[in-house]
Amino acid sequence: MLFRNGAVYTVDARQPWASAVAVDKGRIVYVGSDAGGAAYAGEGTEVIDLAGRMLLPGFHDSHSHPMAAGTRFLRCQMSGLEWPDEVLAQLAACAAKLDEGSWLRGVGLDDAVFEGHEPHRILLDKVSGGHPAFITTQDGTAGWLNTRALELAGIVSSTPDPVKGVIERDPDTGAPAGVLRGGAVERVYNLIPLPGPAELREALRLASAIANGFGITSVNEASVRPELWAAYREADQLGELTLRVQGSQTWNFDQGFDQLVGMLHRREVATGPRFRADAVKLFIDGDVLHWTASLLEPYAGSETDLGSAKVNPEDLDAIVERLDDQGLQVHMHVFGDRAVRMGLDAIEHAIAANGPSDRRHQLAHIALIHPDDLPRFAGLGVAADFQPLWAYLNPEREAEIEALGKERGQRLIAMNSMFASGARVVAGSDWISESMSPLYAIQIAVNRRPPDGSGEGSGGAWVPAERVTLAQMLEAYTINGAWLARQEDETGSIEVGKAADLVVLDRNLFEVDPMQVKDVKVLLTLLEGEPVYRDPSFTP
Ligand SMILES: [Zn+2]
Repeated sequence: MLFRNGAVYTVDARQPWASAVAVDKGRIVYVGSDAGGAAYAGEGTEVIDLAGRMLLPGFHDSHSHPMAAGTRFLRCQMSGLEWPDEVLAQLAACAAKLDEGSWLRGVGLDDAVFEGHEPHRILLDKVSGGHPAFITTQDGTAGWLNTRALELAGIVSSTPDPVKGVIERDPDTGAPAGVLRGGAVERVYNLIPLPGPAELREALRLASAIANGFGITSVNEASVRPELWAAYREADQLGELTLRVQGSQTWNFDQGFDQLVGMLHRREVATGPRFRADAVKLFIDGDVLHWTASLLEPYAGSETDLGSAKVNPEDLDAIVERLDDQGLQVHMHVFGDRAVRMGLDAIEHAIAANGPSDRRHQLAHIALIHPDDLPRFAGLGVAADFQPLWAYLNPEREAEIEALGKERGQRLIAMNSMFASGARVVAGSDWISESMSPLYAIQIAVNRRPPDGSGEGSGGAWVPAERVTLAQMLEAYTINGAWLARQEDETGSIEVGKAADLVVLDRNLFEVDPMQVKDVKVLLTLLEGEPVYRDPSFTP
């Protein structure tokens, strides 16, 4: 395969731009001028005239949950349906296809249904064909259950409302009416059995197709439970994976070091070709929005509320020391500045205890970082994993700023400061949330304005000093992600000898209006030289 006449951005500092790339047996064999590339056009070569379009290394999403996201597509889709006729008809149709004993699980129900109408369990009983039924809203914070599901969840008249949750009740009898909110709905999620292995693999196929469509060729799956590990490994062995996947196995703080045995076994067994499980995920805190992020100073308006960490610093030090000693890469969920500090302290402790080695740990989310801790990422060699999609003002961000107060609010998602500190910055979508699209996230990070271009402040940007450049974001999404996955010799840039993990875009990102980056189209995605996505309109 020979690409010619393109705007080839290599993310290789020695040769940042080229116009031709030749690929043979899945590897890049030439990067340079059209004249030099011509020598590679032999019999049977597919020559692709890019006509000035852009060629980039495939994108790396360093924190996402594709299998969980894909699982949503297997559920009964409620989004956009009119209440009540369309909603009920759709539920009845979904229920009719279910196997005996399985749950009717609907997602994406319009929030407005819950505002005006208060759907009742009896109504759901009529269309759910005897299956326990659990239907959730777009944001997942409210759920509608039928009588059987309420029984299985153990929610009866005498069940009190949980903390930060509501059980809607019939006014006359006090019996649960069917709608649960907040903390009340959360416990139902844990009841639903995980999909079986075949379903998980189907979910993975659906999610991978979406990722490939966004130009993504590598992901870090940020929360791999053993069931997910098994599905990934099986998909890999069957040759189904169209992504390189580094799995971060989920550590459970309620279990001791015994769980390490299973983790090491799963690392040992899953060694590719495309799936590895050599990272471990630790959830240190929650998030700012729900006041569950762990802070160094109290939330605004409170004297004492520091949020909470799921582990104390001494235990975390001991766990990270052990994981580090085993050569596992530690991947920590840290939102608040205290959680960030705990994470850095634990890694510093592990370095002191275990001595020098090539560790590549990462801290993800890092919404709020104390200024004293910012330089420590570079110093300790810790990758800073941001979600660039969060870097603009919206109602959620405003609520976070209110929770932290103005000074700390201004320091949220300090991507430019992190780049300036010399740390290795990587980027992740955290999809199942809003979107997995790297181009969409890149637009947000370089502008810090809402996607529609609205917004207040200097040029509409939120904290304009924290805007980053397109080149920095491309680095985060390619070579830095590859480094984090220990694959920088294999992928992450367009260089001779590397795998042909490539993406073709319909325009040169460096020439489009920064507020239109999200509108740039992915035309073709190659993984090891094989097309894993092709836009129907792309006929070179
Ligand atoms: Zn996540």
